[in-house]
Amino acid sequence: MRAVQVPEAGGEFDVVETAVPDPDADEVRVAVDACGVCHSDAMAKEGLAPGIDYPRVPGHEVVGRVDAVGDDVTEWSEGDRVGVGWHGGHCFTCEACRRGDFINCENADVTGLDFDGGYAEYTVAPREALAAVPDGLDATDAAPLLCAGITTYNALRNSDARPGDLVAVQGVGGLGHLGIQYAREAGFEVVALSRGTDKKERALDLGADHYVDTESEDAAAALQELGGARVVLATAPSADAIESVVGGLGTDGEVVAVGIPPETVGVDVNTLVGTRGSVSGWASGTARDSQDTLEFSALRDVTPEIETFDLADASDAYERMLASEVRFRAVLTP
Ligand SMILES: [Zn+2]
Ligand SMILES: [Zn+2]
Repeated sequence: MRAVQVPEAGGEFDVVETAVPDPDADEVRVAVDACGVCHSDAMAKEGLAPGIDYPRVPGHEVVGRVDAVGDDVTEWSEGDRVGVGWHGGHCFTCEACRRGDFINCENADVTGLDFDGGYAEYTVAPREALAAVPDGLDATDAAPLLCAGITTYNALRNSDARPGDLVAVQGVGGLGHLGIQYAREAGFEVVALSRGTDKKERALDLGADHYVDTESEDAAAALQELGGARVVLATAPSADAIESVVGGLGTDGEVVAVGIPPETVGVDVNTLVGTRGSVSGWASGTARDSQDTLEFSALRDVTPEIETFDLADASDAYERMLASEVRFRAVLTP
């Protein structure tokens, strides 16, 4: 099969011919139809996580068809459409797993870091890492939903916001353009926050009720003018951006960060005390959370805006993603 490997930490992508992998007893082999390119693929590419074995095939937004199942697997069959996201399986025995909190498993595997991911024609994943993909979703549309989609959908649905509440989505990019759609479909009053006016029309098309250009307006003041936000979903990986919205929270408001800035975020606690506000973080979810995301997306016609690339052009897709030149997610097809 064709696969795209990172030969070593910081190395360039290699397009190679390699053996089709065989599943172990509790694994499933997936014939890949599409794989999204995510900013977190930099962890495999640049060696930013400890303990990665190279060469490694990145990719944790994998959509395909079950091609072979291990001897112990009963819940998946050849031909099933499935997806594999960031959460690449768990141990079932650690303290977190014993509480059913699989995403916080002490021995969790990450797809494309701890085992080879979806930048390939085939991949093998643990049975518990698979989500069923609804028929109504194209593989290329479903792929980004397995990381960018689940992260925003799951963060919003686990917040305390209720229909009618003011919910802001900061950043109109790979995550934000999906967050706006989920917030809209959840019944929130949606504010899109972004720098400049380039993305205004697109944000309003996607379902935002308001648009705030944070270059010409103070984000916190604009949110207060609208009544104060119950939730700000912060997708831009920038400490300045996160700090700029804390003052825009209403009573019991929460800034939920899903983009990870490289620098530390400073928060004015006086502001938080005054509103019972908080700043928190959220990370993707389990395979069933992925499936919920896919099902809701199919039900409500939420799709990502994508650019597709051939597998052999993974390097080009990755560079364009890093430079924020892709509108809004890059997807590889084998
Ligand atoms: Zn990702
Ligand atoms: Zn565990």
